[in-house]
Amino acid sequence: MRIDVLTIFPQLFDAFFGASIVGGAREAGLVDLAAHDLRDWTDDRHRKVDDSPYGGGPGMLMKPEPLVRAIEALAGTKGEREGRRVVLMSPQGQPLDQPGLAGLARWEQLLLVCGRYEGVDQRAIELAVDEELSVGDYVLSGGEVPSMLVVEGLVRLLPGALGNPESLVSESFSTGLLEGPQYTRPPVFRGLAVPDVLRSGDHAAVAEWRASRARELTRCRRPDLFEAATDPTRPARAAAKEKQS
Ligand code: SAM
Repeated sequence: MRIDVLTIFPQLFDAFFGASIVGGAREAGLVDLAAHDLRDWTDDRHRKVDDSPYGGGPGMLMKPEPLVRAIEALAGTKGEREGRRVVLMSPQGQPLDQPGLAGLARWEQLLLVCGRYEGVDQRAIELAVDEELSVGDYVLSGGEVPSMLVVEGLVRLLPGALGNPESLVSESFSTGLLEGPQYTRPPVFRGLAVPDVLRSGDHAAVAEWRASRARELTRCRRPDLFEAATDPTRPARAAAKEKQS
């Protein structure tokens, strides 16, 4: 898989692309990653990427010309892209979730576009962007951290990226539930003991305990997820969501 990021702050990605699971996957050749400076597609002396909004209002907007030029240079023209997807990080986008990530992981190449200022001229979105993606109902100053979220979430899904691929199976959201509590050594810490069952060596009992704690935690903290996970139509809905992205 190849993931390109278009940003006015490519230097933010230097450390991120080289560290941890993302860095390891890149090193192992599982993913190609590159951050591109949007200003390389400007054609004026000041390398200007923003302008004031029509109709007035606070702040600036990203101009359409360098943005569309850059997107078309990196991912081709909208409507003629094969295996490539251009995703704009945006609070107005579809909320990101695990099935959505799994859908994105199927593309050969993704171009993640990072907005800044007050956002992006609508014509650039219509002309060059395939989908808009939100990382939550809050506003950040730019699309760089949202892009990093997407890269990190996607890279975990690439076969071979995780030391133990079983992690993916038990993780929060893979079953539609949150993962339950986990413990490591020591057996007692400041008076709090690890539940006996986890030290019993009885794998079936451990699995049952984990499943019941996952159900209980999800029911208390995320009744919305619990309801969806126990809905018999859930697998069909998750598959549809994956297919959609
Ligand atoms: N004026 C915009 C609004 O009210 O929706 C907010 C623009 S925000 C300050 C600048 C950029 O940060 C956006 O264009 C987008 O790329 C990114 N961004 C901010 N919050 C985001 C979120 N929740 N999800 C994805 N991207 C986000």
